Amino acid sequence: MTVPQKVGVLGGGRMGAGIAHSFLAAGAEVTVVDINDDAVAAAAERISNDVDGSLQRGAAGTREEWLSRLTVTTDAGAFAGLPLVVEAVPESMDLKVASFRTIAEASPEAVIATNTSSLSVSDLALTVDNDVIGLHFFNPVPASKLVEIVVADSTPESLVDEARGWVSALGKTPIVVQDAPGFASSRLGVCIALEAIRMVEEGVASAQDIDNAMVLGYKFPVGPLALTDIVGLDVRLGIAEYLSSTLGERFAPPQLMRDMVARGELGRKSGKGFYEYS
Ligand code: NAD
Repeated sequence: MTVPQKVGVLGGGRMGAGIAHSFLAAGAEVTVVDINDDAVAAAAERISNDVDGSLQRGAAGTREEWLSRLTVTTDAGAFAGLPLVVEAVPESMDLKVASFRTIAEASPEAVIATNTSSLSVSDLALTVDNDVIGLHFFNPVPASKLVEIVVADSTPESLVDEARGWVSALGKTPIVVQDAPGFASSRLGVCIALEAIRMVEEGVASAQDIDNAMVLGYKFPVGPLALTDIVGLDVRLGIAEYLSSTLGERFAPPQLMRDMVARGELGRKSGKGFYEYS
């Protein structure tokens, strides 16, 4: 199992930097493109920190050798001739479509892999002639073992097999999901969280006891309400609204969730959600 020798990443934020680091760790030359000089500097720093982390954990090689395989630039022309470009710009259809066109222009032959967590990969694929697939990495990328391979209507079967090989070569486990709202992970994760929120709303049990039910009873690493605090209630509300509009009423956000978001109780980032944070 190997990854392509040269890989591009568009958007070097939280996810793009982690993805770039993963491909560096697998021996690839990686070109990261971001939008301006500040973003380029921030991306380079994030990736260097991840490289330091790998070396501290005993990875082979030197910092200089790893970083000699990394280019971070504002010039999307640097994607020319690359066989694979991973798109990791913010979650907006308009921005992703523009980004796909940028990649296609620079590298008409490249496979474009999108890290979208919710948008339709099939709809994105319609905007370019390149082969397109979803590679949904999880945060934080270095520590996360899962990548969802999202198969668009137009994704060739041979590319799905190739992508499985890439993900395995990155030391992660692939799961293959047809392009459907929420893929597998968000759909199930949000489904459980919404039911847990309805249980708080109905006074069935406290947030802590509901989380304990899943952590101690079902070996979840984090309870669904604590996880909602980590992700952000606003983020999960957005996903629930999207899923209810596409998959139906069973994903309708509970009133309690809407009220908490309206009060600014967004979870960890605001200091209060289902739990309080100091
Ligand atoms: P982020 O905001 O941390 O990073 C986005 C990066 O894209 C930034 O560096 C920004 O400067 C850059 N960017 C913006 N416009 C650009 C453009 N036109 N050209 C090039 N670069 C541009 O976002 P993120 O959290 O890394 O999310 C990126 C994608 O990954 C989104 O689709 C998101 O839904 C998905 N995702 C996020 C997570 C998560 O937990 N953060 C998990 C899985 C998937």
